[in-house]
Amino acid sequence: MSLNEHKQRLKRLREAMAKARTSAFWVSHAPNVFYLSGFTGDSGGLLVEPSRATLLTDSRFTTQAHEELAGARIGVKIVKGPLAAAATAELLGRRFRGSVAFESARVTVADSARLRKGASGRIRWRGAEGWVEALRRVKDAEEIAEMRQAARLASEVLTEVIALLKPGLRECDVTAEIEFRMRRRGATGPSFETIVASGPRGALPHARATTKPLGRNELVVIDMGAILRHYCSDLTRTVFLGRAPARIRRWYRAVKEAHEAACQVLRPDARAEEPDLAAREVLRGYGLEAAFIHSTGHGLGLEVHEEPRLGRGQKSPLGPSSVVTIEPGVYLEGLGGIRVEDDVLVLPSGPQLLTDAPREFLEL
Ligand code: ZN
Ligand code: ZN
Repeated sequence: MSLNEHKQRLKRLREAMAKARTSAFWVSHAPNVFYLSGFTGDSGGLLVEPSRATLLTDSRFTTQAHEELAGARIGVKIVKGPLAAAATAELLGRRFRGSVAFESARVTVADSARLRKGASGRIRWRGAEGWVEALRRVKDAEEIAEMRQAARLASEVLTEVIALLKPGLRECDVTAEIEFRMRRRGATGPSFETIVASGPRGALPHARATTKPLGRNELVVIDMGAILRHYCSDLTRTVFLGRAPARIRRWYRAVKEAHEAACQVLRPDARAEEPDLAAREVLRGYGLEAAFIHSTGHGLGLEVHEEPRLGRGQKSPLGPSSVVTIEPGVYLEGLGGIRVEDDVLVLPSGPQLLTDAPREFLEL
């Protein structure tokens, strides 16, 4: 992360803090700590004040913290032993009086009790939800470049693996092949457990891959994504092993049209529910609305599920240069599922697809 980007991010957070009249914010959710500081350790937190920021971590991360924060104007404080909320609170208690915000949706009940006890009444903890997450909705130029790469990697791997599919291969063989190939291209891992669901198992939107062999004349849903330099991709394709009956081709056409309709309404000022309404409208026309049992998509970035959720009742605008997935699907018990998912960058000039594996119905 360049120093300039990170300075901008802290500046935006401090503006939000000033608006909320908070003089200090204890950021502990690892992706948020990384977003603001560049620190990749999985233990620690960032204390943001109006004119300084301090990373607190434990001695296992001393070298790493100094390396990753080199040049950034962020102090490093090593807390003795594994970083405990109590030690942090005590330290804060020595430095502050009054109100300190913390990420209430990210802290366990036990840690929240330790925070309170450690500061022994000198600090008034104040819950803050989604402050950094709101900033993360808007991707900066550097993030967009990284996400393009992560999306391209997933597209290449999935395109290659689809060409290998044949009856008899087991679902777990396919996931292994996908994850092997993504790591060979530099991914640090899958952004979630790779889904390969064949035949009737495809009717479960989040099916885990099993040892079931892919059968002839079955639908196969593959939902996968890679983490490349911290950024996630998320991509789904559905293929048919054999020559598909007309009704399956019609269902696929419905899902693809729903996908296109949802993409078409993506713009920074669109409400987050708009793509969902558009996708549902198309599926209703095919009599398949009841078979679409999840929301149309989600934000994507350092985490695979981020703000916003593209579902009914979500009124907030998508925001400029947000990255979201569009993933309508139909699920028919006993028969299987069809889902088509892409990652899309939302620009004022219109949506830009980041994933580019073939989208037409493949009968293999
Ligand atoms: Zn997915
Ligand atoms: Zn998704």
